[in-house]
Amino acid sequence: MKTYLYKKAISQWQDRLSISDWNITTERIDANQIEYNGEDYFIGISRNFDEKTAVIHHDIDLNDEAIVHELLHVRYPNKNEEEIVAITSHVLDPFVNWDCELKTAKSMAQKIVKVVYAEDNYYDAYEKVQEIIEKELNIKKL
Ligand SMILES: [Zn+2]
Repeated sequence: MKTYLYKKAISQWQDRLSISDWNITTERIDANQIEYNGEDYFIGISRNFDEKTAVIHHDIDLNDEAIVHELLHVRYPNKNEEEIVAITSHVLDPFVNWDCELKTAKSMAQKIVKVVYAEDNYYDAYEKVQEIIEKELNIKKL
């Protein structure tokens, strides 16, 4: 993953984890700068709670799991490593996400069906349907 993709992924996960007010960047570090304790890679985050800034330091490529894990250290600063690992798997569980998408889709579909039945003017119905979709998608982003 390239830096701009990290940036995109981080900002999307920040939205979902409600920590969008943080400025979170990544920094690739040189393996020579690290003292390894038996691990063969390093990923860690340094956080500044006053300034709401954080830097993810890494010497291997980051993936979604690593990004979510490090962001959860920002979201839940008092949880220990074991708890963060557990929440990471929960957040990444496709069924949890699927359930959420499904609820949004169902609620959108119900509202659209109501409008389509109530409006006999095609153009009014079309505009209202557009409004519903925009509203639902914005709500989901928040
Ligand atoms: Zn950790």
